[in-house]
Amino acid sequence: MEYFSTNNKDLRYGFKEAVIKGLAPDKGLFFPISIPKLEKEFFDNLPDMSMAEIGFEVAKHFVGEDISHEELKNITEEVFNFPIPLIKIEEGVYSLELFHGPTCAFKDVGARFMSRCLSAFAKQNKEDVTILVATSGDTGSAVANGFLGVEGVSVIILYPKGKVSKIQEQQLTTMGQNISALEVDGTFDDCQALVKQAFADEDLNKKMKLTSANSINIARLLPQSFYYFYILAQLQNRDKDIVVSVPSGNYGNLTGGLLAKQMGLPIKRFVASANKNKVVPDYLEHGNYEPKESVQTISNAMDVGAPSNFARMMELYREEHFEIIKDIKGAWFSDQETEKVMSEVYSNYKYILDPHGAVGYLGLKKHINKENEIGVFLETAHPAKFKDTVEKAIEVEVEIPTYLKECLQKEKNSILIGREYSDLKNQLLNS
Ligand SMILES: *Cc1c(COP(=O)(O)O)cnc(C)c1O
Repeated sequence: MEYFSTNNKDLRYGFKEAVIKGLAPDKGLFFPISIPKLEKEFFDNLPDMSMAEIGFEVAKHFVGEDISHEELKNITEEVFNFPIPLIKIEEGVYSLELFHGPTCAFKDVGARFMSRCLSAFAKQNKEDVTILVATSGDTGSAVANGFLGVEGVSVIILYPKGKVSKIQEQQLTTMGQNISALEVDGTFDDCQALVKQAFADEDLNKKMKLTSANSINIARLLPQSFYYFYILAQLQNRDKDIVVSVPSGNYGNLTGGLLAKQMGLPIKRFVASANKNKVVPDYLEHGNYEPKESVQTISNAMDVGAPSNFARMMELYREEHFEIIKDIKGAWFSDQETEKVMSEVYSNYKYILDPHGAVGYLGLKKHINKENEIGVFLETAHPAKFKDTVEKAIEVEVEIPTYLKECLQKEKNSILIGREYSDLKNQLLNS
């Protein structure tokens, strides 16, 4: 499979190159030149397939010959070593729980797949790689965790001192093995600037092979299409049409679903569910795309004012607004509405929504016709990750999963550096 840049269809790379590069040289996003149509047999077999088997069957079309089938099978088995259950909340409404991975957010899926692809390529090239990643909190731990114990790869996380939550800092600084953390005396923007400068530094690149683990890497996007097939695998009652609501920020998760639909997955419609950062719902309504500064909300992983995957959504629909609105409805909700629905769903069904899943649930309820449709919303984070917000809404204590509790008890291990580039460079050259 080849991938072109969303800025230039003639700029093409194989899967391996696209994954290693992350971003096309002209700053476009990589996109597959064609989307495979999966066979009827695959869909017939879905109810008997595991998540890992589904992952392999879909991934092989996109990976081509860059990773052997045997190795790709091992990769999908390692990536999907946690459950992704479809839970019934009420008649005709289901939650696909994507948060049972090591960092309790759906980003684990993409990060784990990307990390194993990069590791496979490091082995092929017989070259160890160093991943530099700047984080404002969640992404760093999902990415680093994806690389934990992965051969041939070391990861250095940069995070802003005093600007991540306690639980996030513990997740970033207690992994050990091939993961190390640099606590930067500056902001997230400083961390990002330092990483960029390191990539451009020739001295450094002579000494070590630096790779980025960018959130728009194609190897993070593709696996986010796999679990949509797992919805169908788990739904017994298939005589109704399926509608899926996706709580969205950068729109990678929704783009994964749109890819699955174009591969032949019978999903009737998607709902792009947003918080007050509603540029995509606005686009769906009016046909004008106007990126904005992001505003802060309680579903903060969706606080994105200029979603990077919008370019990929446009590519899928050839920029035809009338085509895109056939497949996607938009919806957005305030923090008050989000809190209210968390409380209602808990008192009615004893189900605890996290603030992101709550936005997904609201979007689904807005755009479903329950007479002839079944609805699924994606639950993207464990409620304990947003303990204070959730407890305030439902007035019940939220239990922290054992693995999060364990990392809270471990000793923090990080190196404090200043925001000057020379500090980072010395650190990298001496490590
Ligand atoms: C990143 C994230 C989202 C948004 O996903 P996108 O792919 O960026 O749209 C939603 N919920 C949680 C918990 C997240 O971490």
